[in-house]
Amino acid sequence: MLTAKRFLEIGNSPIVEAMHQVAVLKAAGRDIISLAAGEPDFNTPEHIANAGKEAINAGKTKYTCESGLLALRKAICGKFKRDNNLFYTSEQVIASSGGKQIITNALIATLNPSEEAIIPAPYWTSYPNMVRINYGVPVIVKCSAENNFKLTPKQLEAALTNKTKLLFINSPGNPSGAVYTENELAALGEVVTSHPTLVVLADDVYEHTVYDQKFITPAQINSKLYERTITMNSVSKSYSMTGWRIGFAGGPEDIIQTMHKIQAQTTMHPSTISQHAAIAALTGPQTFVHQAQVIFKERRDLVCSLLNMIDGIECAIPQGAFYAYPSVGRLLGKYTPQGKTLQNDRDVMEYFLNEADVATVYGEAFGLSPYLRISYATSTELLTEACRRIDEACKKLK
Ligand code: PLP
Repeated sequence: MLTAKRFLEIGNSPIVEAMHQVAVLKAAGRDIISLAAGEPDFNTPEHIANAGKEAINAGKTKYTCESGLLALRKAICGKFKRDNNLFYTSEQVIASSGGKQIITNALIATLNPSEEAIIPAPYWTSYPNMVRINYGVPVIVKCSAENNFKLTPKQLEAALTNKTKLLFINSPGNPSGAVYTENELAALGEVVTSHPTLVVLADDVYEHTVYDQKFITPAQINSKLYERTITMNSVSKSYSMTGWRIGFAGGPEDIIQTMHKIQAQTTMHPSTISQHAAIAALTGPQTFVHQAQVIFKERRDLVCSLLNMIDGIECAIPQGAFYAYPSVGRLLGKYTPQGKTLQNDRDVMEYFLNEADVATVYGEAFGLSPYLRISYATSTELLTEACRRIDEACKKLK
């Protein structure tokens, strides 16, 4: 065994596995509707793509400083000020290759071996393994549908130990779509700041997809929480730029400078071409962001009402992101036409894939069952057809 031991307990990403499965079935000629991927279906806005092309044409294709171009860091500071009323200097921000690398850098920068990171479930599937890869211990706290999939101060307090170092707050949340209110964040903040070493990793990548309430990020709550929070974000979801790989963060200068150090020895900096495109995204017209939010809201309303009409499925209305997280609890124990009993949400996912040609992701992958994650980042026609197929498949269950 030549691989490091900690990788023995680290499996492959269930979302990536679901996407591979879809690709294989499609290649075999099956008409699969995929509601598995967390990716906006729009093209990158033209003015942003053009900024990338212009960078290539102008020869802006060389190394930049490890923390990103100063112009990009200034654009990030401007974005935090404009959208979040947060003030960071250019030494307090960093750009990396996607939000994923920002989170990885933040974990390397903060976690000592065996320190704990609290992860409210349901969570984005990558968090626990990212923590394990970086020698930390994920502490999963299940947040029930009764509390709208949100962490309560009482739960946070109960999870704290003298090894706790990090708390993940992902609002709007993937996969639940839960959005924390100002009061909820303030109450959690009281617990955070009463602990001597707790740092909040605020994952705001779905910031611009919030429907019926105001978006607020933990660092905005008060100066004590600001000093303890790494606010991370990315252009991936907001500007439909998943492939450009630009993420960014603002936070306490010592942590951000450590993240710079890590990046200098690993990837150096995100793609120079993408950095130029990200400057255009963050400083240019924000019309696309608002238009996408309106479209996602229409899709949310459609998919939730169609899902709630299906016997056996119950879907709470998500307040943000572009996922529905319906309970499939009432389908468990039923028999498929092939005589198999549906025992858990993975069985339900597989049944819908095989019987209805609809790909979803099972709740266990997000740490809370029995649910399915349904991405509605696809057209209303496909969403309507997918729900019709799921309904038909449910009707075949005994
Ligand atoms: N955080 C959450 C909650 C996500 O869902 C994702 C992507 O799916 C990311 C972070 C990472 O985004 P990216 O690396 O594309 O910027």
